[in-house]
Amino acid sequence: RPLDRSARVFVAGGSGLVGSAVRRELRREGFTDVVAPGSAELDLRERQAVFDWFAARRPDVVVLAAARVGGIKANATRPAEFLSDNLRIQVNVLDAALEHGVERLLFLGSSCIYPKFAEQPIREEALLTGPPEPTNDAYAIAKIAGILQVQAVRRQYGLPWISAMPTNLYGPGDNFHPEHSHVLPSLMRRFHEAKESGARRVVNWGSGTPRREFLHVDDLARACLHLIEHYDAASPVNVGTGTDLTIRELADLVAEVVGYRGSVEWDTKQPDGTPRKLLEVSRLTALGWVPRVGLREGIARTYAWYVENHESGT
Ligand code: GDP
Repeated sequence: RPLDRSARVFVAGGSGLVGSAVRRELRREGFTDVVAPGSAELDLRERQAVFDWFAARRPDVVVLAAARVGGIKANATRPAEFLSDNLRIQVNVLDAALEHGVERLLFLGSSCIYPKFAEQPIREEALLTGPPEPTNDAYAIAKIAGILQVQAVRRQYGLPWISAMPTNLYGPGDNFHPEHSHVLPSLMRRFHEAKESGARRVVNWGSGTPRREFLHVDDLARACLHLIEHYDAASPVNVGTGTDLTIRELADLVAEVVGYRGSVEWDTKQPDGTPRKLLEVSRLTALGWVPRVGLREGIARTYAWYVENHESGT
């Protein structure tokens, strides 16, 4: 069912990579009442604050794009926070939404919820058929709990809540931290800084052989709205491009866009993570959504954003 453009939409996590893209998409689509408090205004880990906020603002639609996220090293070194923060954020928001009878809700998970050795490309049915990749198991278990809570609310209360599982995302507003970010922004920053300083050698993590799929966050944002309007079932829906590449190939592409021409080396003492993580996306494409931003174009757009906003290096 289509959403009323005057509905009040709460984008939880509205200042993050995903949340800001969702807000841009809602604006493009003519939504007039989008609320997206930053974490200073509303700490979603604080249960009472979340309930008070719902009582005061009474949203009609909730997009739960808030999470503690990070790359392979952040996940592996801070599992306690990844588990606790993500569980608290989602339980608070989902419970408050239920108490206020919010009808339309989209919960965002991640492709890392699937088993480490799931059959590729990964279908939605692979959920809970094997253990997750150990470098991000805390995050994965928290997100799996969120999917189960959405399904439980559907079953017990009959609300049409849904979940989407995006593949690895990138785009403007990403985190470019040298240690904690995901691979694409990490490489972009490393190559950029090497180019600027005239360094002739960079060292990336792992073997470069794992395969990953990358989706521009604007494509995810379109998928989110599309799903809220066109999908109503208990199974989560994968969101991806359907194609992947090796980290080595990704590095070559990022180096080319950035204009770095030195050597690229690999530190195999760093973790590789899961060998492959490609989503099967026919459930979503059958609903009429297709990705629009090609990888090279998306990297170029993200690099332009980075140069504009981030060069000072935060
Ligand atoms: P993952 O998809 O959950 O494994 O998360 P990441 O985006 O952090 O890492 C993806 C792959 O890129 C892994 O195989 C990493 O070892 C590899 N990689 C190579 N260089 C880097 C880097 O500088 N930062 C990150 N985060 N990953 C890197």
